[in-house]
Amino acid sequence: MFKIAFSPLYQHPLPEGHRFPMEKYELIPKQLLHEGIIQESDMFEPKLAQTVDILNTHTHAYIEQLNNLSLDKTAIRRIGFPLSKELVEREKCLIQGTLDCAHFALQDGISMNIAGGTHHAFADRGEGFCLFNDMAFAANMLLIQQKVKRILIIDLDVHQGNGTASIFKNKPEVFTWSMHAKDNYPFHKEESDLDIPLQSGTSDNAYISLLEEHLPKVLAIHKPEIIFYLCGVDVLASDKLGKLNLSMEACKKRDELVFKSAQSLQIPVVCAMGGGYSPRISDIVNAHCQTFKVAQNIFF
Ligand SMILES: [Zn+2]
Repeated sequence: MFKIAFSPLYQHPLPEGHRFPMEKYELIPKQLLHEGIIQESDMFEPKLAQTVDILNTHTHAYIEQLNNLSLDKTAIRRIGFPLSKELVEREKCLIQGTLDCAHFALQDGISMNIAGGTHHAFADRGEGFCLFNDMAFAANMLLIQQKVKRILIIDLDVHQGNGTASIFKNKPEVFTWSMHAKDNYPFHKEESDLDIPLQSGTSDNAYISLLEEHLPKVLAIHKPEIIFYLCGVDVLASDKLGKLNLSMEACKKRDELVFKSAQSLQIPVVCAMGGGYSPRISDIVNAHCQTFKVAQNIFF
């Protein structure tokens, strides 16, 4: 079985009425345990990422502003969470979770973070509920530690991975691929190595065909030694922010395609959950848990 990063810090308290579904971070592990998909012993609790390591991805000034809670109001509003010491600690914990998962994936073939996928964080600022960029942090650390030479980030969250694209703009070791709803946040898109913008209302067949077409090409061209997979479930038709029209079955097919391709080429995979904003929390939790089930079936 694969290792799963989880910390009680992941479920950070938010003000009454906040639209971010924070409770999913408590419910996903509960449901995975309840259904017997994972055991308590599969989970590990990441520590907080160290500033010296975060400096490889984020600017000194930005990290200091977060550490001192001195970020200005406009910058805090762009992030969308009230800034607090506890929130900064949560974010440091989840980025370390993605890095720890990368190390476990190199050993076990796959590892999954119950939070993460904070792809809207840039080197010098955060936005869209993202403070630090977990996949960028982990990818930079793996390169520095000389664990791998080539990394692929497959971002299938419905929103473009703008922060990730910007951070790796001039870094050929990291190939960034984002498949996202064209007319959705962020309205100014950054340039990934491969962007596939989708029309609003794109449904199962069109989505899966595009994935089937591009996945083998990207793997053949970039030859990654590890894949970071952002498996956001805001692609579902039920999602209130997503604008796409995917069924649960298509979500399953999407995860299978990524996992089977990686496994057949023996490329380790690190997953982070990303977004999910269906009005019914059970739709979000079921879709995320489905990704764990698919991974387990394919890898074990
Ligand atoms: Zn999203």
